[in-house]
Amino acid sequence: MIKLRFVQSLLFFTAICVFLPKIAARGGHSDYIQPGDGNASFHGTARHLFAQEEKRPSVELTRGYMTNADLEKAMKDFTKRCSKISRLYSIGKSVNGFPLWVIEISDRPGEIEAEPAFKYIGNVHGDEPVGRELLLRLANWICDNYEKDPLAKLIVENVHLHILPSLNPDGFSVRRRNNANNVDLNRDFPDQFFLINEDLSLRQPETTAIMNWLREIRFTASATLHGGALVANFPWDGTEDKRKYYYGCPDDQTFRFLASLYSKSHRNMSFSIEFEDGITNGASWYPIYGGMQDWNYIHGGCFELTLEISDNKWPRASELPTIWEYNRKSMLNLVASLVKTGVHGRIFSLDQGKPLPGLVVVKGINYTVKAHQAYADYHRLLEPGKIYEVTASSPGYKPKTTTVWLGENAVTADFILIPEASYGGKLLRSSCDCSYGQPLLLTRFFTETNNGITFALVVVVAFLFFLLQRRVRSNLWKQRQSSRRSITV
Ligand SMILES: [Zn+2]
Repeated sequence: MIKLRFVQSLLFFTAICVFLPKIAARGGHSDYIQPGDGNASFHGTARHLFAQEEKRPSVELTRGYMTNADLEKAMKDFTKRCSKISRLYSIGKSVNGFPLWVIEISDRPGEIEAEPAFKYIGNVHGDEPVGRELLLRLANWICDNYEKDPLAKLIVENVHLHILPSLNPDGFSVRRRNNANNVDLNRDFPDQFFLINEDLSLRQPETTAIMNWLREIRFTASATLHGGALVANFPWDGTEDKRKYYYGCPDDQTFRFLASLYSKSHRNMSFSIEFEDGITNGASWYPIYGGMQDWNYIHGGCFELTLEISDNKWPRASELPTIWEYNRKSMLNLVASLVKTGVHGRIFSLDQGKPLPGLVVVKGINYTVKAHQAYADYHRLLEPGKIYEVTASSPGYKPKTTTVWLGENAVTADFILIPEASYGGKLLRSSCDCSYGQPLLLTRFFTETNNGITFALVVVVAFLFFLLQRRVRSNLWKQRQSSRRSITV
């Protein structure tokens, strides 16, 4: 009878720790949509990110592009048409008082859920208008297709996507790179190496709006859309000695994966002559300081790419549908990567079952991801195809580590932390470190119901594991007694 119970416990434990990880898959990398066929091409050869003021394009070239008023109306019309999955809000105003409008797309827009958030920002530079056009197309495409396209559905149901088509409407209105105070917004953020832009009173209102935005919303990843080249750029953007060379951040491999995902999903970005595979480390291209990308990673906990999506800053408006088609799959795949790969989960306390907004670190990577204050969910993007040691911690609790094999699918790893006070063998000597593997639907169920159910299940699993351990110890003790006897004899 005891043996039977032991076997039952063992089977249950094995099911939790071995089989469920496979069920946990949130879709495979292979499911990412691939670049389509086409004949046109525009290779990345230009370097227009340099801060020099360029000759302003003629008004003639802007024909067919949305004006600021057009864009505002289009965004308002969109959120009326797609009110079920979107909302419109502003994160502040430009120097000239133009609202910085954002569309949020989600099945529960405006609500806090245990889901990752992604942001797209366009038109950081006023004379790079392609991004703002593409972002409106992206919003409309998702709205038109989320009930029939699996990727659009995945995004709407599992991600909060925030779209800011124009960060620099003032610059756009005069076809100029800088804002109305003639400041380059992509040089206006605090820098990790040099004490520039530290004077808060001098920071531009557009920059302040972005910084406050990241305090309000926990973004897992983001991308800004620029024009003038064709390449996916990733941190670091600057070097400590200001020289130009490859300077990777702690998550270099993950960033290379994300940038490659974009370039290889693009019609022709990865075929670039200038950039191998259509990606580049920012500092190896040319170092910049005070950029938005590095600040996001360092201070916002947000993995940001800088995407150059068109060699020509002002292609004819008639080319916009083609450029959209070239970027559509990349834009969707990048957002979907937040749930299709990486390690995700929640952190709970064992004593009360409450969510713990703790910290998550991965061995060998000097970077900390914070779990959300509300649900204690964390979303750790990582390069697939490797084994990672993931540790969760929270003040007053014993840290817990689990080993995760991250294949092509996302893995869920929930952590149950034991209070320091009760640790020491009285409550539990150990609990299932490898609780990762809960299917996404199960996680969502817990998230959307109540913590009591979660806690009850946790207690059941812990109890069974406790029985299992006791049984193993008992057997070991008997074996030792037996062997001692045999030695004695
Ligand atoms: Zn730019």
